[in-house]
Amino acid sequence: MGRLYLDYLEGNNIFTCTTCQVHLTSYNELISKAFKGRHGKAYLFNSVINITCGPIEERILLSGKHQVSDILCKKCHTVLGWKYDRAFEESQKYKEGKFILEKAQLKKQHWTY
Ligand SMILES: [Zn+2]
Repeated sequence: MGRLYLDYLEGNNIFTCTTCQVHLTSYNELISKAFKGRHGKAYLFNSVINITCGPIEERILLSGKHQVSDILCKKCHTVLGWKYDRAFEESQKYKEGKFILEKAQLKKQHWTY
């Protein structure tokens, strides 16, 4: 294993990994809280750091057929959610390249909201 390089976010309202506290994203990147993950509530984000992606799979979700890949914490390898690589329905295209994170895997740091 090589050295693990982790990125850090500056400022307030940061979401970190519940397990290892690594920085993942911030409130500024949040698009919607109205999503469902595998284990309950999930949030949609514009961008997430310190993750690795699993292989792309085709899945039928509530909102139709998508190509998605699981996203894992780069440090502790917990599955955090998934990335939308491709949506087949026109109405779902806005999700392409965006990230779902399970609410249960997120911890708030330096929260001001
Ligand atoms: Zn972690």
